[in-house]
Formats: sequence, structure tokens, C-alpha cells
Amino acid sequence: MPQFIHKYRLALIVSLLLLAGFALRTFFVYQNSRHQIRESIIEQGLPLTGDTIYSEINKDILRPIFISSLMAHDTFLKDWIINGEGDVTQINRYLKEVKDKYGTVSSFFISEKTRRYYYGNGVLKTISEKDHHDVWYFRARAMKTDYVVDVDSDEANRGRLTVFINHRVVDSNGKFLGITGVGLTIDKIASFVHEYEKRFNRHIYFADKQGNLVLTGVGQQLKNISGLSNYVGTILSADKMRAPLRLEYVKNQHNMLLNVRYIPDLSWYLLVEQDETEALAGLNRDLVLQMATSTPVLLLILAIIIITIQKNQNQLNHLVSTDALTGCLNRHAFLARIPAWKKRFQRTSKAPQVLLVDLDHFKNINDQFGHLEGDAVLKHIAHLLQEEAHTNEMVVRWGGEEFLLFLQRPDQVEATAERLRKRIASQEIRLGSHPLKITASIGATEWQAGESLDHVVARADIALYEAKHGGRDQVCVR
Ligand code: GH3
Ligand code: MG
Ligand code: MG
Repeated sequence: MPQFIHKYRLALIVSLLLLAGFALRTFFVYQNSRHQIRESIIEQGLPLTGDTIYSEINKDILRPIFISSLMAHDTFLKDWIINGEGDVTQINRYLKEVKDKYGTVSSFFISEKTRRYYYGNGVLKTISEKDHHDVWYFRARAMKTDYVVDVDSDEANRGRLTVFINHRVVDSNGKFLGITGVGLTIDKIASFVHEYEKRFNRHIYFADKQGNLVLTGVGQQLKNISGLSNYVGTILSADKMRAPLRLEYVKNQHNMLLNVRYIPDLSWYLLVEQDETEALAGLNRDLVLQMATSTPVLLLILAIIIITIQKNQNQLNHLVSTDALTGCLNRHAFLARIPAWKKRFQRTSKAPQVLLVDLDHFKNINDQFGHLEGDAVLKHIAHLLQEEAHTNEMVVRWGGEEFLLFLQRPDQVEATAERLRKRIASQEIRLGSHPLKITASIGATEWQAGESLDHVVARADIALYEAKHGGRDQVCVR
């Protein structure tokens, strides 16, 4: 494994860098998009929805509040009450006219003295503290403000859910005379809110000061909405804040963002909630898609890079480790390989054979045929030596026309060297039209265990010297 790492080190480093770069880029782009989506929900989406709903509600509700106020201060109405609620048709006509003129769904007056409920068509009923339908009257009666907004079903209008503006009527001395006002159907507001919820995937709630839901989801309470129970106190403090309140919480393992604003005219809280996790789902899908499409491309690029690097690396290795003319190992590469080579052959019982081969009278060839022809002869002999060498044996260009061979043979070292010498001597090399005979002297020895490289080469050198002095074209073993 370490050898593998060593061999592919450059390719591995480049791949890792590329992968890391790709991963980092994807991560930052994702984080940035995520941040932008979140910011756009918090800074724009939720406040804008709040603003729009708020102004829509105001548009729909402020007018009825104004109408109710006009009714409560109408001198006709007050005089009619003070004069003993005589002619019912008069109050009916008055209420009917208000209703028709302003286009409300109902208009009413409830007298404190007679407890009669007047509306456009006559007297609807006499209210009673015992009737749960009428509790609103007694609540409105006790209030300190001029009016209160109530959402209730309208008995005068087939029980339709209606927003009532209940305005107190008092005489010039401040004595309480009853409650008047108009009702308007919330269908329009509710469908508007509903459409908003659908279009922007947001939840919109309205709550009163007690934390009861109003307008939509009537009958429920804020504290019962999943995820919100811990925040009711905070939400109900939004009326004291100048800017809308922002909250973040977890609901069903989804991160929720909430914007709360207070509507003073209604004493209601408007809550706009968005599921951030869901809003990010599209981004997550994009991320997966992007990974799915870019990963094969990335792998292809990686493969091309690795192959190119490895090819160049191999070429480079070959260039620096071999001798350009002969293709034999050069000294430098040989020295780098010798420790591993030695280790491998230490395990075998037979000592490696070391042969130093020097061509005889090579200078004469150069002199006679020129340096280029000399090169051709060197190549020829080098080729022959490499042919002779088996796998895992080494042929090194040791000097100009000197080759060092490291062999592993079962034969005696002398026999190996002698065979080689004969093979060289039997060559017939053609230089132009000249057939040329070439011979070599060989110094041969065995590499003894524990012996240094310098030592064994020096011994081979001595053997070679003896072969030269013995008349050349011969083998000497030491
Ligand atoms: P001997 O070994 O038999 O004593 O004689 P020699 O002529 O071979 O002697 P020596 O070792 O002194 O000379 C080697 C010659 O090889 C000298 C040099 O010009 C030649 N030589 C060395 N390298 C190259 C080479 O790359 N190309 C060619 N053409 N000649 C080379
Ligand atoms: Mg020589
Ligand atoms: Mg020589």
C-alpha cells in the first residue's frame, strides 16, 4: 500500500485537491443560497405578508368601525332611546338604511333598558344573561373602550360567521344606553388570508389578547398550536413592541420562522408563519441534482488528470532512470534500486552474480569509423546484453563502453560470463559495407552476503583488469 501511495502520490494529491475544491465550493454555494432564502423569508416574505394582510384587514374593518362610531353618536338614535323606544318601525328603518347604504351584512342596536335586539327587520329577540349567544353583550357592556371587535355567528343572518363592531352608546351624561354597530361577513377576509396561505405556503393566524384564535380557526388557542405553546407569552407581548416580533422554533422537526405584529384597532395579533425546512427542500433537491450531474463529469476529469499525470510521470521516470543512448539503467537509477534488489535476493540461497563488461579497443572503432558509428555499436551491444538479462536482473551503463550486470543464475558465475563473452564475440556487426567483429573482456564475481556494493564492484573491476591484461576477449573470475 505505501508503495502504491508513493507511485501515485502526485495523482492522489491532485485528485484530493480537486475533490476538496469541488466539495468546498458546493458547500459554500449551498450555505450562501440557504442563507439568502432564509434572509428573504425573514426580512421580506413574512413582514410583507404581514403588511399586506394588515392593510387589507384595516381597509375592511376600519370603515365599519367608523360607521359604528357614527351610529353610536347619532342624535336620532339617542333621542329615540331616551324617548322610550316608542315606534319600532323608525329604528328598523334607520338600521336598514345604515345597512343598505354602507353595504354591511347586518346592523343592530341592543337596548340596555329593554334588552331588545333591534335590527333592520324588527326585533330579533330579547337578550338574556342566561343565553350563551348573548354573553358578548354583557362583555361589551363592561368594557372600558368605546368599541370592541367580536367574531361570532350572526343569528340575524343564518348563523354566518361575522365580524361585529360593538360600539357603546351613552347619553350626554355618560349613562350607558346600549350597544350598536354593524356586522360584516369575514368570508372575504378569510378567503384572502386563505389564498395568501396557499400561494406563499405560509400559515396565518389571528389571536386576541387572551391568546384565543380569531377570524380563522375560531375556538382554538395559541398555546394549542404545535410548536407555539412555549412562546405564547412572547407573542402576546408584541403589542408593546414598535417593530414586528420575529421568532424561530421547531415544529415536527421542521424549523419554523414566525413574524408577529399587533393590530391596535382590533386588539389582535397577526401571526405569519413559514416552514423554513420546506422552503429549503427545493434547494436540497437542486443540490442532489447538481451532485448527480456534476459527479460523473468530475470523475471523468479526475480520470483524465490521473492518466495524464501518470503517463507523464512514467515517461519522466523512464527518462531520468535510463541512459539515453543505450536504454540501459543509468548509474543514478541503479543506485536507487539496489537496496530493494539486494533485499529480494538476500532471501535466495544463490549469491547474485556481478559482471563488469568492457568492450575491447573501442577507441579504435571510433577512430576508424567515427563517433556515430561507435554509438551504433554501443547500442547494438547494449541491446544484446538486455536480451540476455531476465526479469528482475539489471543491466547498467557503468561508463562509456562499460556495462555492469547484476544477474541471478543457477549456473557457475564463470559459465554465465563465458556464455556472454562468446555471444558478443560471435556478433557480426555491419558498419557500412564493413563487417565488424567486436569482443569484450569480462570481470566476474559473486556478491557475498553482507558485502558492500563498492566492495563487490571493486572486485569485479580487478577481475576485468586481469582479463584485459591476460589478452582481452576473456573472462576472469575473482
Ligand atoms: P580497452 O578497453 O580494450 O583497453 O580499449 P579501449 O579503447 O576500449 O579503451 P578505453 O576504455 O580507454 O576507451 C574507451 C573509449 O570509448 C574512449 C571513448 O572515446 C569511447 N567512448 C566512451 N563513450 C562513448 C560513447 O558514448 N560513444 C562512442 N562512440 N564512444 C564512446
Ligand atoms: Mg574498452
Ligand atoms: Mg573502458
